[in-house]
Amino acid sequence: MNNPIPYGRQNITEEDIEAVVSTLKSDYLTQGPKIAEFEEAFANYVDSKFAVAVSNGTAALHLCALALNVKQGDKVITTPITFAASANCVRYCGGEVVFADIDPETYLLDIDNVRKLLEAEPKGTYKGIVPVDFAGRAVDLEAFRKLAEEYDIWIIEDSCHAPGGFFADSKNQKQFCGNGNFADLAIFSFHPVKHIACGEGGMITTNNDKLYEKLLQLRTHGIVKDDNKYKNSIDFAVGSSVSSSGVENYPNWYMEMQDLGYNYRLTDFQAALGSSQLKRAEEGIEKRRALATKYQEAFKNKNFIKGQSGVVEGHAYHLYILKVENRLGLYNYLRENKIFAQIHYIPCHLMPYYRSLGWEEGDLPVAEQYYKNCISLPMFPSLTEDEQEFVIEKINSFYGD
Ligand SMILES: *Cc1c(COP(=O)(O)O)cnc(C)c1O
Repeated sequence: MNNPIPYGRQNITEEDIEAVVSTLKSDYLTQGPKIAEFEEAFANYVDSKFAVAVSNGTAALHLCALALNVKQGDKVITTPITFAASANCVRYCGGEVVFADIDPETYLLDIDNVRKLLEAEPKGTYKGIVPVDFAGRAVDLEAFRKLAEEYDIWIIEDSCHAPGGFFADSKNQKQFCGNGNFADLAIFSFHPVKHIACGEGGMITTNNDKLYEKLLQLRTHGIVKDDNKYKNSIDFAVGSSVSSSGVENYPNWYMEMQDLGYNYRLTDFQAALGSSQLKRAEEGIEKRRALATKYQEAFKNKNFIKGQSGVVEGHAYHLYILKVENRLGLYNYLRENKIFAQIHYIPCHLMPYYRSLGWEEGDLPVAEQYYKNCISLPMFPSLTEDEQEFVIEKINSFYGD
């Protein structure tokens, strides 16, 4: 009998363990130097100016929505084929989520559908777009930026599936997911099924210094610790009149809570694990791309295949997706053989919560059809050649091939 093969799995090395243990023995378990180290290394990796580490990807999305000032009734567009958090962040702030259908070939938010929504309402109706680099395939954000500028709206790139992914822009330059050249803000997750595992963890990247400052503040309770930014007087801070005594500075203990923020911090030992994992990120992507090439070759001429992720330049391959007939049969057959394929995703607009807000079957036909056929195959750097061959063989044998 073979070992169980999941669709995704983290990879923890001795070096990772050593990084965590040495942080546990240091002075800081949280709010120490490992956070800034991880942020700097991550910004460098995705080619952005700033990075802000947070407790998970969902917290990252929430802070982005807050920093962009999403309010009651604000309309924001996203894709239904994503993890619910991409949409939920808008709801946390009282905004309205408007789902737009996907492209049947790329499975990404279809820009033409987004344009139709924007054109149908007076300018100012929509405030932003949350495109998702779904499965690890980079959204063409250059095109989305152009559209966003026409309508004066912001972009949050949900890049949870795509650290290290990129697309080639109109000048044939590589544009890395989350590099901040087109999106206002981008977010990542370090949940163990994602490329870089911290247990829980997230990151926001941006090139915008105002948004960066705001995120830092919102991450810790809305607290500001900077003499130049205080709103209360020095007299108040000191507790007595200081004009006569010549004191010019705020006392060292002083700080101000200026906004309603949260505690969305990452711990230092998680950041140490993240930095250690990040060193192997490129190697991991190379392995994922090799696995994708093999799947693509194995299934390219099979008549039971209705579509697949395929080989796409810059794809980060968080997932490798097949579209098949008799998906339930295949899923169960693979399980019998201890191959734990997964389904990504149940369309978000048809979750009971979003149905309760008025969404129904038939609203987004391409996404709904995609859901009926999709299945995510095992895809992670430590998947062995034998294991991948076993997966391919079992899929072929299920369809009598
Ligand atoms: C994983 C994921 C999230 C949420 O990240 P968490 O760290 O689990 O909160 C958001 N969006 C997408 C597309 C994801 O895959």
